[in-house]
Parts: sequence; C-alpha cells; structure tokens
Amino acid sequence: MTILRAGSATDVGLVRASNQDQALVASPLFAVADGMGGHAAGEVASEVACQTLAAAFSAAQPPTSEGLVEAAQEANRAVFDRAQANPEMHGMGTTLVAVALIGDDGHDALAVAHVGDSRVYLVREGQMSQVTSDHSLVAELVAEGQIAAEDAERHPQRHVLSRALGVYPDVDVDLTVVEPCDGDRFLLCSDGLSREVTDDRIASVLRRLADPGEAAQELVDEAKAKGGADNITVVIVDVINGRAAEEKPPGAAGAGAGGAIAQVAPLSDVAKPDISVDATRAVPVLAGGEPKAAREPRQRLLTVRSVAFVIALLAVAAITVGGIDWYARSSYYVGLSGNNLTIYQGRPGGVLWIKPTVAVRTGVTTNQVESRHLGELTAGKTEDSLASARQYVANLQTEERNARAANSAALSPAPRTGASIP
Ligand code: MG
Repeated sequence: MTILRAGSATDVGLVRASNQDQALVASPLFAVADGMGGHAAGEVASEVACQTLAAAFSAAQPPTSEGLVEAAQEANRAVFDRAQANPEMHGMGTTLVAVALIGDDGHDALAVAHVGDSRVYLVREGQMSQVTSDHSLVAELVAEGQIAAEDAERHPQRHVLSRALGVYPDVDVDLTVVEPCDGDRFLLCSDGLSREVTDDRIASVLRRLADPGEAAQELVDEAKAKGGADNITVVIVDVINGRAAEEKPPGAAGAGAGGAIAQVAPLSDVAKPDISVDATRAVPVLAGGEPKAAREPRQRLLTVRSVAFVIALLAVAAITVGGIDWYARSSYYVGLSGNNLTIYQGRPGGVLWIKPTVAVRTGVTTNQVESRHLGELTAGKTEDSLASARQYVANLQTEERNARAANSAALSPAPRTGASIP
C-alpha cells in the first residue's frame, strides 16, 4: 500500500498583477495548472481545469491511468466550453500536470498526465530527472535539433505553447506511469519555477528539506529571489510508505528501498489497475492549502470603505488588463515553426502573460520563399489581420515563383537568328 504526503506553495511573483496558477492537493490526486488569458480568464481556465479534473477523476472508479487521461480531457472540454460561452474569455487556456495514485491488482503506481509546459520532476536516490517533456515550440525545435538547448531560453518564441488545455475541443494528453519506490519525491511546478531556478538548485532544495510544504515554500522563495517574473506554483508529493516524517528527506540518497532508476512505462505496458485507494475522500484544496470556504470569515471583517477601495482598484486593474489584452491579441504575425510558415494570433514573443497562439498552419515551407525574407520570418512579420497575414504568405509564394521563372528564362539558350558576323 503506497502512502503519500504532500505540500504546496504558490505566489503571484514580483511582476504579474494576478496569480493565474492553480494547485490541486486532493490526495490521491495532485495537479498544477498555469492559466493564460486576459480579463481574469487565465484564473478561470486553471481553476475550472483543476475542479473538473478532481471531480472527473474522483467519479471514475477504480482510479486508473486511463481515468486520469479522460479526466484531463474532460477538463479540456470544460475550459473550452466556458471560453465559447463567454466572448471575453475567448482564447483562454491552461497548462496541466497531474499526478495520481492508481492501483494495479494490489500493485500501486503513479500516473503522470500533462499538457503544456508545466513540469513534473522525480527525485530518487538523490538523483532528479524530468518526467514530462514541454509542449512548447522551442522544446520541439530542440528535439528536432534545429536550435541548441542553451538557446531555447533566449528564443523570441520561447513562450509559445504547442499544446494547451481549453484551446480546442479535444486535446492529446501525454501519460507516463511510474512504479513508486519508498522515498520517491515528485515535484509538480509551473514555469514560474523552472524558468527562474536551475534544475541543480531545485534538486538541492528537494534533497535538503524533508517537509514537503517547507520545501515547496523554499522553492517559491528562490524563484522570487531570482526575479519572480511569472506566477510560481509548486506541489511536492512524497512516497513515504510507513517512514516517520522526521526521517531523511524523501528523494535523498539512501531514503528509498530500491536503487533502480524509475521504471517509466507507456500506458500499454501497464496491467489493468485495481482499487487500492479511496479516491472518494478527495477534497480539492486550492493553492496554499486553504479551502476556499475557510476564507469567508476574514472577508466579512472588511469595512465598507475598504471594500469600495478594493472595487475601485479592481476596476482600474480590469481596465488595464483589458487594454493589454486588446493590444496583445489585436494583431497577427507570420513566423516559423521549424521550416513551416505559421500564422500566430498575438505579438511575437507574447505580451506579459498573453502568449501567441497558432491561428493557421499554412503548409508553406521556407523552401517556397525567397531566402532574404527568412530574417523577418524568424523575428515574426506582424500584420493587422488574419487576411493580411494570409496575403503576405501568398505574396511570398508569388514572388518566389516569379523569381524561379525569371531564372529559368535567363538560363535558356537564346533563339538562333541566322545572322553571323563576318
Ligand atoms: Mg507561467
């Protein structure tokens, strides 16, 4: 029987106006979601995703890896439907990483599901490895060998996600199943941690602090100390299996019973699981570990004046956010996804929390445009509308075809005239 212990921490960071991340600690289910979208849509997206995930996973018995994937897909549909029903939330989305304890004929396993660039790490025997692969444009370019890993963090399109929850009616969810060892420590985090704090530093904190809540807060504090440019959310899940809480930190060398590196198996290799946990006891708790209802007594202490002040502040913030949102989404640009010309909605590189989204995959490659345009395509060629972006791509093709035809004509032998010079 696998026993889990968890802790979490979240923070708005030092730059963003609101926290659009969401943490879910509802043993045996844990998740982190990183929302995107203006008008508070990002907060709605991540919260709807976590709540739907928890309800769907809890309702499907017994808890299985397939059930976790289906719960994530249900969460995707819930976010998508909410966006469709509310025009001001159009285009919102969220990342999602989820870890759940599943049973397998009395043989427990931990299922890891993910979409987007939030991450899951595993510390075993003192060694930390990344369980998930980012669903982002730069991660795909690195995987294809088109850019070096060290250039990814400086790439102008590093914020562009290749997959997110809630953007389309259906989504592919990646699944990894890990055989747990006593002492394993799982870290779920938003990119506000992984962009600010190096893997070595994260691993050091996870090895040093035994209490998962304390370790989570320390990681959030480190991300803020490094600049806190984004919302930061951390959930730590320890496999303790009967060890006393005051013992060596989970994940530390010697803490586990087994010495093998995590056996990560695709879903098809995992036998049908059995019920070994009581998922119906799961009670979703929002980031920070405090249930929403517990906050109400404090809110009643607010005076009328302070409420009015907060409302005025929120109104100003809403107007500001609305303006930024309009600016960020009011244009399109033509950029490169590998060798393919792709039309994105948004601004190259994104604006604050608003990341560009893929509008059209044109099917046109860099071989079909004049090489002198590759510089502006790499940086992103901005156009006022989708129609003008399409026209720009069409013009590039026409130009390249005309140039090719002119070259062919120039290379053809001139017709004989019959005249000769004596
Ligand atoms: Mg983020």
